[in-house]
Parts: sequence; C-alpha cells; structure tokens
Amino acid sequence: MKKGAVMSQRILIPWAMLEIGKETLKKSKAELVFLHGPRGELPTLKELIEGVRNADVLIPRGTQLVPRKVIMANPNLRGIANYGVGYDNIDVSSATQLGIPVTNTPGVLTETTADLAWALLMATARKIPQAHNYTLAGQWRGPGGKVFMGQDIGPGGSNRAKVLGIIGFGRIGQAVMRRSRGFKMKVIAYDPFMKEKIEQTKGVEYRELDDLLKKSDFITLHCPLTKETNHLIGGKELEMMKPTAILINSSRGPVVDERALVSALKKGKIAGAGLDVYEREPRISPGLTILDNVVLLPHIGSATDDTRGQMAVVAAKNAIAMLRGKRPPNIVNPEVFESPSYLLKLRIY
Ligand code: NAD
Repeated sequence: MKKGAVMSQRILIPWAMLEIGKETLKKSKAELVFLHGPRGELPTLKELIEGVRNADVLIPRGTQLVPRKVIMANPNLRGIANYGVGYDNIDVSSATQLGIPVTNTPGVLTETTADLAWALLMATARKIPQAHNYTLAGQWRGPGGKVFMGQDIGPGGSNRAKVLGIIGFGRIGQAVMRRSRGFKMKVIAYDPFMKEKIEQTKGVEYRELDDLLKKSDFITLHCPLTKETNHLIGGKELEMMKPTAILINSSRGPVVDERALVSALKKGKIAGAGLDVYEREPRISPGLTILDNVVLLPHIGSATDDTRGQMAVVAAKNAIAMLRGKRPPNIVNPEVFESPSYLLKLRIY
C-alpha cells in the first residue's frame, strides 16, 4: 500500500459502538467493519479471529476477551484500542511481543465509576434494593412487617466516624475518597505504588493491607486486575475483616475469591457485599444470588450516556492515531515503541 493511502485500511469494531464513537472514527476515512449480532451480541472467538485477520486496528469492548490466539491471527495489526480503562481482557504481553500498541480510556470514566461505587456502598449499607422490593411487594406494614435496619455511613447517633478502607488509590479510588468527605469518615488506604501520594493526601492515612482489613467499616476495591491482585481478597482476608464490615467491589471480579465471599457472607464473617463485577461474568455464583445481605449489579460502573460516549471518542482517537502510525494518547504498553517488531512496522507505515 502506498504511504498515506488510507481508504483500504480497516478498523474492526466487534460490538455495538455508540454513534458518537462511529462519527469520530469516520474522520479516519478507514473502512469501519462491525462484527456483532442485531442486538449487539458479541462474536465468537472464531469469528473474532477471522475478523482480525483483515483488520488494521481492533477496538474491543472493555471486557471482551482478546487472547493470544486473536492477536496471533494478525501480527500486522497496528493497534488495539480498548474501550475501557481496565485492559485485563487483552493479552498485552503477546501484543507487545508482536509490536502492537494497546490503549485504554482513562479519566473520562473516573467520576461516573466513583459515583456507582458510592451508590453501591450506600445501597448495601442501608439495604435499599431489599427495602424497595419489599415495598413493591405490598408488604409494608403488613402482618409481621419488617424494618430494614441498616448501618450508618456518616457518624450516626453515636457520632462515631466510620472507617473507609480504599484498596487501589488511583483515579477512581481518589474520587471515592473525595465523596467520603461529606460523610465525615476516617479514610485509610492501601496501594503499594501510591504510598507517598496517600501520605501526602490530607485526611487519608496509609495502611498495609492486613491492617486496613482489620480496621475498616467499609472496604472498597479500585485496583486493576493483575497477577498480583487476582484473589487479593480471599478467605484469609475476609476472616480478618470486622463482622460488621461491608465489602464493595467495582474493580474486577477476580480480585475477590467469589467462593470464599459466599462462604463469609453466609457465615456472617462480614455483614454484606455490594458487587458490580464477578469472577466469571456474566455468570454469578448461584450462592450469591440467594443471599439477602448482598446488592448485585450487572457491571454498570461507567454506564451513563455521557461517559460511555466519551469513552467511545477516546477509544476512537487512540485507534486513529495507531492507524496512522502515531503515538496514541493513552498507551498502556509504551515499551512497544522500542520493540524491533514495532520499529520494523513503522518503516512500512
Ligand atoms: P488507576 O490505574 O488510576 O488506579 C489503580 C490503582 O490501583 C493504582 O494506583 C495502582 O497503583 C493500584 N494498584 C495496583 N496494584 C495494586 C495492588 N496489588 N494493591 C493495591 N493497589 C494496587 O485506575 P482507575 O482508573 O482508578 O481504574 C481502576 C480499575 O477500576 C480499572 O483497572 C478497572 O478494572 C476498574 N473499573 C471498573 C469499572 C466498572 O464498570 N465497574 C469502570 C472503570 C474501571
């Protein structure tokens, strides 16, 4: 292909992208290839592999798996622009090895996801969905009427500041910390890469993980899913938590050992859990769905029209930059630019 020729380039979008993202992509003048069912159903792995063979850039949806098999199907890919800030769905090391840059969509979803984590915390502490269902079922003030006794998030009648433990003090973790200020909470945080930042943040104290688990009334998870954070919260960690503690997970499902969580919730080792994410999405452990001390959401952390639209725009801009052989704004594997396989590709861009 001649240098500068763009008409025959292809961007593969294997999900139903929002209009605003498509409009941004059209500026690239590349062919947009959509690969999904009429109601947005995702392609099978085999279909994705076939699709990738003829693509220049791939834009997967946040949790859509892009394993080595998919990446190996086209070593000439110019980039993978994930629609999501987490990128544990992509085999980044295989991409790097083949000289393929990978990008994500940080920042634009920070406040929205922090809102959701906070809503989940409040809903779980005050049993809002359980009380809502009860009201709808017409049981309010009926015979044997139930009172939904919750937990204070603010200081409550006894005027005791509740302890909020934040695990992962990055963009979203810090946005959750800001929300806690109106509730006069004591905030403690654990993040091995942000110790200094935590110590410098007014009103936040650094704690090692075990200490945070023992001291917190509410624990909220905001770390990425990595080899190190897989099952970061397992049976041992749940055992350390207060029996009155509530665990909120809006990061990634496998950060929590779901089997151990079900057992801890059943036995009353902790008081409740609010979950937006699960170990084997979209499947949810059957043990979880029959508990009455959980609030379960279908992975909607960033799901507002405005935020999802902006995520699509960011993913599209990253895709266009990579299509043109330029450094994309939100690279997650910058080391790729030094790799011989990438430098070789640059020569033909
Ligand atoms: P970020 O990179 O700004 O923050 C993540 C923080 O986690 C970093 O400060 C990092 O140092 C820390 N961390 C890494 N390893 C850790 C460990 N072992 N223990 C404790 N902390 C550790 O990312 P962000 O924008 O705040 O997003 C965080 C995560 O939230 C994403 O990776 C994604 O998986 C998840 N997320 C979920 C939704 C949702 O829909 N539920 C939406 C957006 C993001």
